[in-house]
Amino acid sequence: MTMGTDRGGPGESPPQGHDRGGPGGSPPQGHTDEVDFAVHPAAQLVPAAERERLLADPGFGKVFTDHMITAEWTAERGWHDAQLRGYGPLSLDPATQVLHYSQEIFEGLKAYRQETGPVVAFRPYANAARFNRSAARMAMPQLPEDAFVRALELLVTQDRDWVPGRPDHSLYLRPFMIATHVGLGVNQPSPSCRFLVIASPGGGYFHGGVRPVTVWLSEQYSRAAPGGTGAAKTGGNYAAAFAGQQQALDNGCDQVVWLDAVEHSWVEEMGGMNLFFVYGSGTDASIVTPALTGTLLPGVTRDALLTLAPDLGIPTEEGRISVADWRAGCASGEITEVFACGTAAVITPVGEVRGATGGWTVGDGTPGPVTTRLRDQLVGIQFGHLPDPYGWMHKIC
Ligand SMILES: *Cc1c(COP(=O)(O)O)cnc(C)c1O
Repeated sequence: MTMGTDRGGPGESPPQGHDRGGPGGSPPQGHTDEVDFAVHPAAQLVPAAERERLLADPGFGKVFTDHMITAEWTAERGWHDAQLRGYGPLSLDPATQVLHYSQEIFEGLKAYRQETGPVVAFRPYANAARFNRSAARMAMPQLPEDAFVRALELLVTQDRDWVPGRPDHSLYLRPFMIATHVGLGVNQPSPSCRFLVIASPGGGYFHGGVRPVTVWLSEQYSRAAPGGTGAAKTGGNYAAAFAGQQQALDNGCDQVVWLDAVEHSWVEEMGGMNLFFVYGSGTDASIVTPALTGTLLPGVTRDALLTLAPDLGIPTEEGRISVADWRAGCASGEITEVFACGTAAVITPVGEVRGATGGWTVGDGTPGPVTTRLRDQLVGIQFGHLPDPYGWMHKIC
């Protein structure tokens, strides 16, 4: 499962639809094609002064906007009862399938308030396509990509005042789908599901801005195995990862690095982010990221970097990096920088590596020039400070 057809090319939103790569991008059932959203604004909004107070220091994923999207799906009726409504608690029967068997998928993307005025989202059709690939793996219904993007547009437009205007701040969008069938039997995927979108204004993901992280090599636990759900964005992957993340914290590290589940030697991901290795420096620098073997999550940020790096004169490669290669490469100076990438934190430098058999420093432990350059380029496109030759920014309002 790759995002190969998802590379580059301007005009990635319809009608061209270049950004819809991969299988599972279109709905198999005809009756799911039309999704009409009813708009029921909240009776009470957070007062403007309180909203501004919250936006001054929102943290990450703690503050939520006035509204949310919900839509229901049943095998008989397809998608129905789609609406924008006030943000608030859900009422679920305690025997609801998602609460017991974690049949759930999610997405994460951001909307930005550009200096010139418009609010834009980064590659929403890439997230829509991935959402459907995750849905297919988790035996959940396909949601038409247009409905996915319209849901985002509706929510962001309604809660436009919640899109931060401060530098580096943005509105994080969290679409997700849960299995709503009531019952403890496990003989079938849920015949009913609910799609939701919530939105959270946020500043930097990691406290203290762009600070290199120290990572823990998880040799005891695995995040994803061949044939498993590693390529799907599903909550269960995170549930299975918390013990490893706790071990990282217990060892004085910020984040866990996952290795392949078979040999425990090939580097896969860092927490909820993809990894890149910088070989060489200056005009000789190139970047290598672990190939999408089926156990890695195909990140939209990863894909964007593979597209824009060559245009900056930085060759890219999707390959295999072992822990031994990483260690030896840092010792010899061949590997000069390592960074992780994902929607929430964009690009985070890795300064130090630790594992059961010791550790080492990457470069001099500070953010390197290639890491910084790629970050500035991507963030510049997202906030509209730089041109967007790839047609990645989707205007919302
Ligand atoms: C979401 C996620 C990523 C990063 O994907 P982006 O689309 O770049 O945000 C990487 N790894 C895992 C495990 C993830 O869940």
